[in-house]
Amino acid sequence: MTAREGAAGAQGTGPELTGPSASAILAELADLRSRDAPTQGGRVLSYVYDSGVAELDELARDAAELTRPLNALDPTTFPSIAVMERELIAFMRRALHGSTSRFGAGPVVGSVTSGGTESCLLAVKTARDLWRAEHPELAAKLARAGKKPRLVTAATVHAAFQKAARMFDLEWDPVDCEPDGSVRAAGFEAKLGADVALVVVSAPAYPNGAIDPIAEVAGLAKAFELSCHVDACFGGLALPWWPGLAPWDFRVPGVTSISADLHKFGYAPKGVSVLLHRGRRRHRAQFFATTSWPGYPVVNPTLLGSKPASPLAAAWAITKRLGSDGYAALTASCVRSAETIVREASIIRGLSVWGAPSGPSIALMTDDSVPEDERVDPHHLADELATLGFRIQHQPGFTQRNGVRLPHTAHLTITPVTERTLPELVAGLRTAADSVRGRPRATPRLEMLGLQALGYAPKREGGSYRVPSPDMAWRILKIAGAGGSGSSLPGKLAPLMALAEHLPAPVAEAILTELLARVSEP
Ligand SMILES: *Cc1c(COP(=O)(O)O)cnc(C)c1O
Repeated sequence: MTAREGAAGAQGTGPELTGPSASAILAELADLRSRDAPTQGGRVLSYVYDSGVAELDELARDAAELTRPLNALDPTTFPSIAVMERELIAFMRRALHGSTSRFGAGPVVGSVTSGGTESCLLAVKTARDLWRAEHPELAAKLARAGKKPRLVTAATVHAAFQKAARMFDLEWDPVDCEPDGSVRAAGFEAKLGADVALVVVSAPAYPNGAIDPIAEVAGLAKAFELSCHVDACFGGLALPWWPGLAPWDFRVPGVTSISADLHKFGYAPKGVSVLLHRGRRRHRAQFFATTSWPGYPVVNPTLLGSKPASPLAAAWAITKRLGSDGYAALTASCVRSAETIVREASIIRGLSVWGAPSGPSIALMTDDSVPEDERVDPHHLADELATLGFRIQHQPGFTQRNGVRLPHTAHLTITPVTERTLPELVAGLRTAADSVRGRPRATPRLEMLGLQALGYAPKREGGSYRVPSPDMAWRILKIAGAGGSGSSLPGKLAPLMALAEHLPAPVAEAILTELLARVSEP
């Protein structure tokens, strides 16, 4: 018997614990948590999706705790994982009107993933692999010409698809939107061809809540024999119960896969989403399997290897407890709140709603039809509203490839708890609008900052610029007054957003990377 076994085994005393006591550690964490934005109560209108039902949160916590020690890598060793996955996929297949028939393409099947980004990445990887297998000659021809197969989406598609294009070596080829953020099917049609690995439409798009023309685009994709993914990460558990929508899910011919986040309007804690495919063949193309190493045979349906079971268990428990009728009731609350906010925001002088949202996402923008001194800038509004206790999300403007600018806006995610704070939120919007009305948008003084001279800002002639090093990126943030103090973000985000919009994208991306990296740097 070794000394260690003697000490730990016989007496059961375990290793010597040298840090602070458990209660001291938890007290420290509670103190840290007290400075976080509130995750419940409807005061943060992005990132968090609060059902407002205490019983659901307790159920999720208990289900997560029961499954905490498991490794969801292997549902044959832990069959509870397989049962929960099966039932969760079946629930989502019903909600999204997926076929169970073995005829045609076969049944809709899918996998549980760690979140929306993973679902989107896997949708792209799967479509790319199928495209490569079906077009070996074209793939070789493109490679010889130094070209890549394309990923065609609207410009408003979630950034996760740009990430996927970079990771899986596709060319992201966005369809330009109208200034109101909507996209025309004709814009997609003009881009379709044999070199398109995947077409993506959103239900709805996160930035503006618009549902893309899904039936038309999926029909075109089908005619061209292309894969067509519906990104319903945001709306996948709200739109099935949202009134007045045209079919956007597996009822639409040509839709080949759909992503839907349980950790958004599924009201599960973070770390759970699903990706469903029309037919087994498509789903299996998502898997990675190898027997070519001396360890256990590896079969991974998703990107991760070892993975937690708790998010799956929490989502499984919540969908079971709520059922379709429960989701319908929670969605009805979101519909009422969204209608009220659209109506009330539209009558605030100088402010308007961007486009026509069809779901629980609303973006507020300046109403340019009124004189300048009556306009409300959405980023000043968001900064002002924060002082009144509500956080809405700054979205920078974006100039598309055809030169048409999509406006800078402030995003609100509407959840069931929004209804509880609705009168206060509407009053807050009015008060904040009154106090910033007429204040022009923050304009970064790039010349004054010396960025043009340094080669980090667009020059009048030609577009050459340098990508700043980490230290230079930090200096630019400090010079611009956007670096905040220490590791914290600046209190007001309007100037930072304006700076990000005005700098060339690679420079803006470098300084935002720096900002976030410094937040967690020891
Ligand atoms: C949230 C979201 C994603 C990405 O999901 P994460 O869960 O944040 O990784 C993708 N698409 C849309 C439309 C989303 O709203």
